[in-house]
Amino acid sequence: MNIKEFNNILNKLLKSELEFLRKRFKPYKRRSFLHREVCIFIDLKTSNDRTLGYYVNTKDFSRQRKYIHKIFITKLSLDDFRISTKLHYKSFGITKLRDTIRHELIHAFVFEEFEEHGFIDNSHCDYSPIFLGCLAWCNGHSGHAYANNFYSSYLYKGILECKKYDDVYDKLVCYILKLEKAAREINEKINRNVDDCKILKIEFNQCGAGIVKRKYLSATTVCKKDNKLCRNKLTEMTLGLGFLVTPEILFKSYERKFENGVTAKLHSELIAYVIDNKIKQKRFVLGS
Ligand SMILES: [Zn+2]
Repeated sequence: MNIKEFNNILNKLLKSELEFLRKRFKPYKRRSFLHREVCIFIDLKTSNDRTLGYYVNTKDFSRQRKYIHKIFITKLSLDDFRISTKLHYKSFGITKLRDTIRHELIHAFVFEEFEEHGFIDNSHCDYSPIFLGCLAWCNGHSGHAYANNFYSSYLYKGILECKKYDDVYDKLVCYILKLEKAAREINEKINRNVDDCKILKIEFNQCGAGIVKRKYLSATTVCKKDNKLCRNKLTEMTLGLGFLVTPEILFKSYERKFENGVTAKLHSELIAYVIDNKIKQKRFVLGS
């Protein structure tokens, strides 16, 4: 099996998967499954020994209208397919490729359907309930061991009761709105203290079914006023939410996440001392 033959197989599978998904998601609509163009490529360089495929797109900024979806199939997929062909299990090899392409197409679909419309960021990522919900609707496979826990969630059980994708969409939007409402209520509560103001932001996870402390930014000013030291602190924290995080869990956990001293993926603390109208700054940054 040479690369050209493999490439032909991939393009045929892409076409048939797009049609399968169109029927599954939009059977009564004349629109294609994706609005944007999607291309499939073979990546022979990826060395991660468990990655069968991955998805990217060419959108660089939020207002960019023209972009394309890109699906990459890795050398591991090619090697697996070659082995199954040699062992006369070609149909098994085809099924595995189809699963990978379906998974990547759902990333693209959720990007168009949710991510672009300003819902919670990272809706299209692997541990997002929105991505897993759409994947479940088309019997797709996650490929991530922990993601199987999604099948025990209330959201999944709700999706099983749906008769058509429009009902799934309503359930997913409702789920997002509840999380956004929880974050709004938390912010209303924690923003009130002017000396110690906190802001909570949320997004979905690329990895991790629970809560991941993604960003922690704080700025403290200490100044001398009427011979007294005044201290003001502003903290902004972004929590990554996995598919097991409900509004109730968010309410219970956010406070601890502000205070627990666990370093976020991006952690920055700034302290400014204002003494005799002169500013001295100390900055502490970790992560990228
Ligand atoms: Zn994925």
